[in-house]
Amino acid sequence: MPELPEVETVRRGLAPALVGRRITRARTKRADLRFPFPPRFAARLSGRRVDALQRRAKYLLAYLDDGAVWITHLGMTGRWSILGASQQPGDFYYAEPPDPTHTHVIVETEDGARLEFNDPRRFGYMDLIPEAELDAHPFFKGMGPEPLGNAFHEAYLKRALTGKKTSVKAALLDQRVVAGLGNIYVVEALHRAGIAPAKSAGRISAPRLEKLFHAIRAVLEEAIEAGGSTLSDYAAVDGAQGGFQHRFRVYGREGDPCATEGCGGTIKRAVHSGRSTFWCPRCQR
Ligand SMILES: [Zn+2]
Repeated sequence: MPELPEVETVRRGLAPALVGRRITRARTKRADLRFPFPPRFAARLSGRRVDALQRRAKYLLAYLDDGAVWITHLGMTGRWSILGASQQPGDFYYAEPPDPTHTHVIVETEDGARLEFNDPRRFGYMDLIPEAELDAHPFFKGMGPEPLGNAFHEAYLKRALTGKKTSVKAALLDQRVVAGLGNIYVVEALHRAGIAPAKSAGRISAPRLEKLFHAIRAVLEEAIEAGGSTLSDYAAVDGAQGGFQHRFRVYGREGDPCATEGCGGTIKRAVHSGRSTFWCPRCQR
């Protein structure tokens, strides 16, 4: 499932083809993905110019020139591809998705780019929301700050976790605390910070919280830099595979020696509420 760094990688790949471009034609090949498309979805996209392409948590937000925001969530297997773009050769050439029967949305732009949304499992979804209603919309209401944004800082993290009796892992996965931080990156950040996933969120000392804050930022930034992580179905828009999974220190490494220098521990795995947790019992306390 694409997590925040993967969605950010997709955003960066899509932006050159979409931002500042007018959509000449949009088509849907079915009435729904995970949810039904909004009324007249394709007609409302057609003729609009995309003024900006942003990301909020794991949502892609295309700001249209009529004040609507076109939302895409990639779900588990959603993928944008760009065909026939007129940019620099090689830069934005995207291979045909492996199975065209799962291409559900096609968007063409004024300069001849063709964007296709392919989603075999259809857990992805799209919507059109007036920009003014975005913050109050159920997708975004109550959502915490972006982990890479200015509103997320050490003092905020301290405030958000104070008095919390849940585990620090559960707290960091709570979208109200911080937006879009998924399982893999929480697990990785906790290992780097030397904090056990089961540790009570409200009982972490200030110096360790500071370490955690920096670990969260570092893990996400490195993953974006590496083009996201490739896990089963995820592929970046150019079909290239992300490289961050090779840098996982604990995720998927059950039984491996701990990567922390001088630790000598062994990575353990446990499953809590359907999600795998990986940690080193020796250096994570
Ligand atoms: Zn260790």
